[in-house]
Amino acid sequence: MADTMTTRGLTPAGAFDGLVAAMANGRFPGALLLTAPRGEGLPFLLDMAQGLLCQKPSGLEPCGECPDCKRFRTGHARLYWLLPQVSEEMAQKIEPYGPEFILRDAWSVALPPPSAQIPIGGEGTDPTYPMMVAGVRGLAGKLAMSERERRIVLVPFAEQLNQNSSNALLKILEEPPSGVHFLLGAPSPDRVLPTIRSRSTLQNLVPSSHEQVVAFLRTRKVSEKAAQDAAKRAMGRPREALEFSSPALEPVRERAREWIGLCRHRDAEKAIGWILASEELQAKDRRASQLLLETALVELASEVGTTKPEELDLLERIRKGTEQALLDITQHARPQMAMTGAWLGLHA
Ligand SMILES: [Zn+2]
Repeated sequence: MADTMTTRGLTPAGAFDGLVAAMANGRFPGALLLTAPRGEGLPFLLDMAQGLLCQKPSGLEPCGECPDCKRFRTGHARLYWLLPQVSEEMAQKIEPYGPEFILRDAWSVALPPPSAQIPIGGEGTDPTYPMMVAGVRGLAGKLAMSERERRIVLVPFAEQLNQNSSNALLKILEEPPSGVHFLLGAPSPDRVLPTIRSRSTLQNLVPSSHEQVVAFLRTRKVSEKAAQDAAKRAMGRPREALEFSSPALEPVRERAREWIGLCRHRDAEKAIGWILASEELQAKDRRASQLLLETALVELASEVGTTKPEELDLLERIRKGTEQALLDITQHARPQMAMTGAWLGLHA
């Protein structure tokens, strides 16, 4: 599994000791609920699934070489996915951390082939992405077929199970077929219905250390400096750090540097003109303006090392103003208003 994420190296030592011991004793939980910051849990669930299917795992780590590990990359016949289904149109609207994005993300394994996915909903499904009962019922049928080998069911977005889907899933969890392990993921235990939660073993994913995130980014061919900057901003979330350091973000970085440049000077006409003409600040989708400001904060953090001591105070005030504008936009202020307010706060 060389080119995908493994749990090794990204969690503090001992974080998964309980599960490793359970695995060694043949008592790996029938249902595990992994809670992790948005978007960070799926690679770990995938890694665990591979470890459970692997013929020669070391602890929870898959060997990466055996036939089952090799099959895993293209969709393993004993790995089932229980996924919310969204239309293509909806997928485009989902915020970047939505499920569709995560599955397309380069650091998860290949998309499961249709044969390995449990159909949920189908064409014309309600695009608010509750999992459909039909999907869970289909799963029960598949799992009921007698099989001795271990089977894994991935439910990476368990917080999106609606009441009906949860009830259908609960029926399976109450009398799980032997050899079946459910690996569920959610941002926090509170987001999962109590009935599901109480049937699951809880495991929290501790944020990675700065050094671990940097090391991870370096394996993704991110330069040392960019890795350091992105890790600073991502607060222990490797996937987020990877996004911050992506070459695809270069145009956004350029725009972020323009914003910082405007903040440095008291040229109101130029600054307000830039804000009014900025396409990403006019979009109804707030994500574009948030990304611009988040990127500006990464840029500001990286500028600290190269800024003259007498200018550090101004840099800090720009950081505060940018931070405030980001908060305002998150709390539904119009991006242009928030940015104008931030600039005026610096120069009024
Ligand atoms: Zn293996």
